[in-house]
Amino acid sequence: MEDKTKKIVNKGLLQSPELYEYVLETSVYPRELPLLKELRLVTADHPRSVMATAPDSGQFITMLLKLVDAKRTIEIGVFTGYSLLLTALTIPDDGRITAIDMNRQSYEIGLPIIKKAGVEQKINFVESEALPVLDELLGDSDNQESFDFAFVDADKINYATYHERLLKLLKKGGIIVYDNTLWGGTVAMPEESAPERLKAGRNYTIEFNKLLAADARVQVSQIPLGDGITVCRRL
Ligand code: SAM
Ligand code: CA
Repeated sequence: MEDKTKKIVNKGLLQSPELYEYVLETSVYPRELPLLKELRLVTADHPRSVMATAPDSGQFITMLLKLVDAKRTIEIGVFTGYSLLLTALTIPDDGRITAIDMNRQSYEIGLPIIKKAGVEQKINFVESEALPVLDELLGDSDNQESFDFAFVDADKINYATYHERLLKLLKKGGIIVYDNTLWGGTVAMPEESAPERLKAGRNYTIEFNKLLAADARVQVSQIPLGDGITVCRRL
């Protein structure tokens, strides 16, 4: 007998580049703040511009930041700073972002725009591998359960390790957003069908998605925006 619980209703969402363009043109670009647009356009010239957070994901992250009234946040993976700038523009004047990236060079590309926006004082940029910085933060008991929000958009192999640290740093009710959790759609492909350059990331991402789904410490929502983002709310 057919298992009705397995029947997938395909609502045809975002099945064409035109539809994505429609979403961007209708709801995202008209509301994108001018300096964010400037940073997005400056980043478009970068050879690795595809790494930047998609503006529709960014718009959603802005809403989450507002919903939890985020003041203290952590950003793992800054690149040229699109998600960092939108966070800095969204949190209050006395808000503070610990922004970690092992490469300061890309951050320098966005920095003049961040300065122009007048939000640089909210950012503590740390040029480092993320893990030791998280461990250092945890070493100070004042930091434990003190953050409202974290955005993780860096090396997929370490997402599970970051998750353990972030759950200790986050307040109850705090939000962690993980980016690229659908990994170009390869999570739903047999390994042999996935492009070679995406295979390792596919395998880490599949394991990480399973881990989150089974983690009773968080409420989870997998959102098919951008390359897939997963929102976790600490219970
Ligand atoms: N959120 C950024 C944006 O909106 O443009 C994009 C981040 S990009 C996808 C990933 C970044 O993570 C790169 O800038 C890279 O240098 C950084 N990264 C990779 N592995 C890292 C690690 N182990 N620790 C810290 N940063 C790392
Ligand atoms: Ca990303």
